Amino acid sequence: MKIAIIAHDKKKDDMARFVTAYQHIFKLHQLFATGTTGLRIQNETGLPITRFQSGPLGGDQQIGAMIANNEMDLVIFFRDPLTAQPHEPDVSALIRLCDVYSVPLATNMGSAEVLVRGLMNGDMDWRKIVKKEEE
Ligand code: PGA
Repeated sequence: MKIAIIAHDKKKDDMARFVTAYQHIFKLHQLFATGTTGLRIQNETGLPITRFQSGPLGGDQQIGAMIANNEMDLVIFFRDPLTAQPHEPDVSALIRLCDVYSVPLATNMGSAEVLVRGLMNGDMDWRKIVKKEEE
């Protein structure tokens, strides 16, 4: 499965801890991330990650483009709800596209835990069927 990982600045510590805790699962999948989040995760876990631009420089939109092509299976996006983001429209667009394409999205650690455990149990395998139908 292709998994996108994004964390706003005040949530990057949480994301680093989260990916480290579940790296036995993440290492079985293909990871994508916005620039700074990806670098941090790469340095702390050693997992291979395809890094896009930093979020405010278009990284969210690059991940959005993958969602629009139905190429992303899961999005883990630790948003900071207490800090204004210069790229708020991009953030909203990304979340909206997840809803358009029914891509599972977690915007906080509580829901991310459920999704990642679900991933481990095969609950996301329907994504393979959706993609096969598109071929
Ligand atoms: P970053 O981008 O990983 O480059 O910090 C995240 C974001 O702000 O969307």
